[in-house]
Amino acid sequence: MEKTKGKKKRSFPLAEQIFIALILAIIVGLLMQNHSAFADSYIKPFGTIFLNLVKFIVGPIVLFSIMAGVVSLSDVKKVGKIGGITLVYYFCTTAIATVIGLILANLFKGTFPALETSSLTYEAPEATKPMDVVVNIFPNNFLTPITESNMLQIIMMALLIGFAVILLGGVKAQKAIDTINLLNDIFMKIMEMILKLSPFGVFCLLCPVVAANGPKVIGSLAKVLLCAYIAYVLHALIVYSTAVRTMGDMSPAAFFKGMAPAMLFAFSSASSVGTLPINMECTQKLGATKEVSSFVLPLGATINMDGTAIYQGVCAVFIASCYGISLTLPQMITIVLTATLASIGTAGVPGAGMIMLAMVLTSVGLPVNGIALVAGVDRIFDMGRTTLNITGDASCAVIVSHILGKKAVKVAASR
Ligand code: ASP
Repeated sequence: MEKTKGKKKRSFPLAEQIFIALILAIIVGLLMQNHSAFADSYIKPFGTIFLNLVKFIVGPIVLFSIMAGVVSLSDVKKVGKIGGITLVYYFCTTAIATVIGLILANLFKGTFPALETSSLTYEAPEATKPMDVVVNIFPNNFLTPITESNMLQIIMMALLIGFAVILLGGVKAQKAIDTINLLNDIFMKIMEMILKLSPFGVFCLLCPVVAANGPKVIGSLAKVLLCAYIAYVLHALIVYSTAVRTMGDMSPAAFFKGMAPAMLFAFSSASSVGTLPINMECTQKLGATKEVSSFVLPLGATINMDGTAIYQGVCAVFIASCYGISLTLPQMITIVLTATLASIGTAGVPGAGMIMLAMVLTSVGLPVNGIALVAGVDRIFDMGRTTLNITGDASCAVIVSHILGKKAVKVAASR
């Protein structure tokens, strides 16, 4: 007995496991390029099963963790404070992201290929109106937020129930708090079990994508992709590094190291919502409090999409150049505004950012058909933009936790 205790099993960190799975997926995917149908039929379904499990857990996790967070704060004002700082951070970083995307796209413009546009067709879904984004936050039914995994509606529901429990007070509230905490613990346990499968999930999700796309599909769009990826990296290195260093008192290296599992997962799954459970785990390990991360991250997975904003800026400039249009400064400013709004309305699922690109193009009078130019490689854009999207959410969780922690120390000291 003693002996087994002494022989501690060497743990193999999740980040390393996911990284190995990612490399294997690329190698196997490249080898399977001539058998992509096989990968699609027999490997992808396992990735889908894994993603289904993650999606299944994400609704209850967000619902109960936000409720648990709200009731533990037992102070409506504090929730407002967290919400306020978060929203300001999200809006500012997304606007900066679009500016970085536009600057880089303009620098790269001369190297972009001039693709043929006369025969393009793209069937755009009905465009979302900006006010629809606001109206859709409010659920008209108790179950649809969960059945449709509508994060903003789940957040609204959790806040309403959480506030009601606080206002109820007394013994009744205590009973409700115990039940909420119990349910939260149960769903967190399920999440832990599912996350153990993530290296396997990553492999099965990424391998068929590499097998189907291979390097050849990148072809003429290599420069546009490169431009977007440079902008993603610059945004992370400049904006998030500075933000976590100055406002979160954390070294950027420690931040990115701690975030590696979630970033690798986001890269493979291209879904911010799917990455939510692992992102919560990473940020909490980095020191973000549970109450903050369980509020800030689900909100971010729905409304904060810096990568998507960059992508939309870069694609707008590229599509304009293919149509022989040179965007003016006022048009660029319009893009910054609409890309920020469009990224708020973008769902945290694969491919959603491309659909919202229609809103950005329309705002400056560019033909929506131009989306067809970039649609073929959307997944490759998406993997990078999702990685940036979730990293931005995490940086906010770390910063807000730090700010609130500092305030709490100050308050305690002044007593
Ligand atoms: N796939 C992205 C995400 O989940 C959204 C997008 O398509 O831009 O964050």
